[in-house]
Amino acid sequence: MLNANIPAGALETKWSKYKSTVKLVNPANKRKIEIIVVGTGLAGASAAASLAELGYKVKAFYFRG
Ligand SMILES: Cc1cc2nc3c(=O)[nH]c(=O)nc-3n(C[C@H](O)[C@H](O)[C@H](O)COP(=O)(O)OP(=O)(O)OC[C@H]3O[C@@H](n4cnc5c(N)ncnc54)[C@H](O)[C@@H]3O)c2cc1C
Repeated sequence: MLNANIPAGALETKWSKYKSTVKLVNPANKRKIEIIVVGTGLAGASAAASLAELGYKVKAFYFRG
């Protein structure tokens, strides 16, 4: 069975609860983290560019339909 790791509690508090417990990435470790972006439309390309600017190693994948 898939475990989606959905935080417990009321729906309206889930996101703020998640944000308050998520581990931060030390800036020194950003280069060690590889992020894969699938799809390079407006959203994917913007995310890939922004994350690369922040120092992450980004690989963007797309297919030509
Ligand atoms: C005919 C038309 C005209 C439009 N005109 C305008 C306009 O004038 N002004 C405006 O602001 N908006 C316009 N839009 C809307 C705008 O194009 C979309 O809102 C915007 O492109 C959505 O961006 P997106 O990144 O969410 O998705 P998309 O741009 O659709 O990007 C998704 C990308 O993911 C890729 N992809 C999907 N599945 C996979 C997979 N499994 N593996 C790899 N790659 C994958 C797709 O090939 C695509 O490149 C128009 C839309 C259409 C259809």
